[in-house]
Amino acid sequence: MRLNEDARGFLEARGISEREWAVYWQNGVPDWAGDACGCLDDRCIGHHHAADEACGCIRSLVQDYQTG
Ligand SMILES: [Zn+2]
Ligand SMILES: [Zn+2]
Repeated sequence: MRLNEDARGFLEARGISEREWAVYWQNGVPDWAGDACGCLDDRCIGHHHAADEACGCIRSLVQDYQTG
């Protein structure tokens, strides 16, 4: 799974690369296994939010990343 453009842009704006994001949440595993929107749940799109909606999960996860 690759992060989609929205997720990559959202993280890039905060200085976080796709790899750093994966490594942080997956105990050092660099291949992203979450959803394309950046959520840890690989079924986020379609369950937590619609495909054309912004992901709320990545917004709370990034706060964790930045404070943790
Ligand atoms: Zn989610
Ligand atoms: Zn999502």
